[in-house]
Amino acid sequence: MKLLSDTLARVKPSPTIAVTNKAADLKAAGADVIGLGAGEPDFDTPQHIKDAGIAAIHAGKTKYTAVDGIIELKQAICAKFKRDNTLEYTTDQVTVSSGGKQVLYNALIATLNEGDEVIIPAPYWVSYPDMVLLAGGTPVVAQASVQTNYKLTADQLEAAITPNTKWFIFNSPSNPTGAGYSWEELKELTDVLLRHPHVWVMSDDMYEHLAYDDFRFCTPAEVEPQLYERTLTTNGVSKAYAMTGWRIGYAAGPKELIGAMRKVQSQSTSNPCSISQWAAVEALNGSHDFIAQNNKAFVRRRNLAVKMLNDAAGITCPVPEGAFYVYPSISGVIGKTTPKGTKLNTDEDFATALLEETGVAVVFGAAFGLSPNFRVSYATSDKALKEACLRIQSFCASLD
Ligand code: GLU
Repeated sequence: MKLLSDTLARVKPSPTIAVTNKAADLKAAGADVIGLGAGEPDFDTPQHIKDAGIAAIHAGKTKYTAVDGIIELKQAICAKFKRDNTLEYTTDQVTVSSGGKQVLYNALIATLNEGDEVIIPAPYWVSYPDMVLLAGGTPVVAQASVQTNYKLTADQLEAAITPNTKWFIFNSPSNPTGAGYSWEELKELTDVLLRHPHVWVMSDDMYEHLAYDDFRFCTPAEVEPQLYERTLTTNGVSKAYAMTGWRIGYAAGPKELIGAMRKVQSQSTSNPCSISQWAAVEALNGSHDFIAQNNKAFVRRRNLAVKMLNDAAGITCPVPEGAFYVYPSISGVIGKTTPKGTKLNTDEDFATALLEETGVAVVFGAAFGLSPNFRVSYATSDKALKEACLRIQSFCASLD
């Protein structure tokens, strides 16, 4: 009898994590590698949040907690939704998990039956389609294009909906493009959803606070209150609070769904780390001043990356509204050959050759469902980012 399940055979390991690991291995082996692969801030977790974690340890808050989070954190989450998104939730409409990933996974496992379709706008974050497959559903990719700055249009959403659609996954600002939907752009999508009452909305708001220039973040249940009853609004502390390793994600939505997600978690991991939960209470309730500070650095790096990548031969890079990614198109380099003789037929060839020949680690576009592109995470020092972009420029100039 074969060891592995048929379900597992349908999915692949996370490419973002694979690139991050490969870059780390090469670095450990002494190679001169600049990692622009990992989607995590290079900033340290703010001191007051760390102190809350340390205080939790000293106070002995190191035991099991309620399966889907302590009441203090749920209260902080309700206050956050009210403060930032004008959304009213009670604590029994809130769930907390070990990172945003587990929140999404719980929701999909709790709701998908065979044949259920999940609409995922591309470019998408790598894990959405594979999570849907693991949960037994069918991912339906709705392709956005560079012409609309990688944002899905109402017509494209309408065309993707069928009687089998269970969820529409929405992510703004987006991983991997950084594209952020304005209120008007999102309203066009929510108007479509109003016409299809069987479709639920899963909004991944992980990059909410990483919004730049005059872009104002908004979320579906806020833009269209009639969708409140069928929207799961998810978020987490990883990106804005530089807390990726603490693993705290959360969501709010209808009680029945939240209860079903709790049931999944009760039979898998139980509560997220108790210490991290207390740190997350402080993150949500405490001072947010550092976010504006961090965002200044992110804007500076975004501008640097966009300018330098647009100056590279064969690369076109739109200016994104948020997150810490840019998603340049490389149609101008496809078909060319590297100095070491590698023909670049795909964006995966480009990313592999770039790493091997220049030591710059990026994630190839096919992993995110739109090619030929690559994703740069600019959540790294200005110095490293500049050096990486210089290497990309000279790599592109050297192609034949
Ligand atoms: N979300 C981050 C990224 O896209 C972290 C890695 C992951 O979980 O995919 O790089």
